[in-house]
Amino acid sequence: MTYFKKYPDEKGYYGQFGGSYVTPELQKEMDKINQAYFSISKSHEFISELRNIRTHFQGRPTPVYFCKNFSELLGGRVYLKREDLNFTGSHKLNHCMGEALLAKYMGKKKILAETGAGQHGVALATAAAYFGLECEIYMGEVDIAKQHPNVMRMKLLGAKVIPVTHGLKTLKEAVDAAFEAYLKDPVNSLYCIGSVLGPHPFPLMVRDFQRVIGIEAREQFFDMTGELPDAVTACVGGGSNAMGIFTGFLNDEDTELIGVEPGGRSMKVGDHAASLCCGTLGIMHGFKTYMLQDEKGDPQPVYSIASGLDYPGSGPEHCMLKDLGRVRYTTINDEECLDAFYKLSRTEGIIPALESAHAVAFAMKYAKANPKKSILVNLSGRGDKDVDFVLENFGLRE
Ligand SMILES: *Cc1c(COP(=O)(O)O)cnc(C)c1O
Repeated sequence: MTYFKKYPDEKGYYGQFGGSYVTPELQKEMDKINQAYFSISKSHEFISELRNIRTHFQGRPTPVYFCKNFSELLGGRVYLKREDLNFTGSHKLNHCMGEALLAKYMGKKKILAETGAGQHGVALATAAAYFGLECEIYMGEVDIAKQHPNVMRMKLLGAKVIPVTHGLKTLKEAVDAAFEAYLKDPVNSLYCIGSVLGPHPFPLMVRDFQRVIGIEAREQFFDMTGELPDAVTACVGGGSNAMGIFTGFLNDEDTELIGVEPGGRSMKVGDHAASLCCGTLGIMHGFKTYMLQDEKGDPQPVYSIASGLDYPGSGPEHCMLKDLGRVRYTTINDEECLDAFYKLSRTEGIIPALESAHAVAFAMKYAKANPKKSILVNLSGRGDKDVDFVLENFGLRE
């Protein structure tokens, strides 16, 4: 049986990870989404409409680029898959357009989600505007204050940004509020998760929508070089951009796959978000995963300089790939991430998102240690959103 037929199983398990741990009420809705996805996503109409969107709206395929200057500086050969050039500036639109298209085929009027830093919210609001769907984005009050430009973008795109005012007023509370709102009107709305997370079938759907990255990248890399990369790397928050590129190379045993988690300020509790490297088996947000948890099984506080990576768990498929030994997971700390951010900007004219700079930093280490080898980095997003923050806090560096 091929990998993609085998995983996940019918219940949404990747080995012991994943599944669906939700209330019976929510389970009914997940079953409906699952059924709809299985029939609709295989129809010729759905596939060709999505393909058309990829080409004409998103601007795909995104290029694979050889970093000549950067490679000369380091020693090895570094290539980038340019998801920063995907419309709206990151890989996120790949799954948001898919989820919104599914909502349209299911006859829904509204899509909703939570957002932390606002990146998922902006991508989903874009998809909603494209399809003429209503859009509600739940966001903690604290995050709303911090992420003013993204809040304004969502509003401009026609989304309703709903402040969440209880608890710590950040992402966790926003998730609860979005689920609650969804359950009030599941007939007319679809909840859209922002990564390969949550109850089945979301990790599967989001992976499928992100596979376009790996399919394109493998072919492009081979066309350029006549071979496959020795290594492929991507940053892992929830793990969607990493699953997207890794799936293109899972069967290529000679290609090493490396997932990069945020090592933050230190490896002490609360200073990082490396759930695959340091987490233990638990259940959160409706699925089984390696998570950073306290004695009671609640998620621990997490931190990263890249707000898109500070999540206390990871996609269930990553947990399995770790246990199978097919993907190696490692960490990059804030300082290494910043160094990569400055170096790639200066040598190649490409400002990476701080999230993506974690993968770039790993590639720098790899290239120095392996001067004869090639490494392909999934550059998940552009860094324009991070420029003010970096310069205010760390100044201009070489
Ligand atoms: C959201 C985000 C990530 C993290 O999400 P994954 O699901 O782990 O891919 C990484 N990079 C960028 C640019 C993002 O916006």
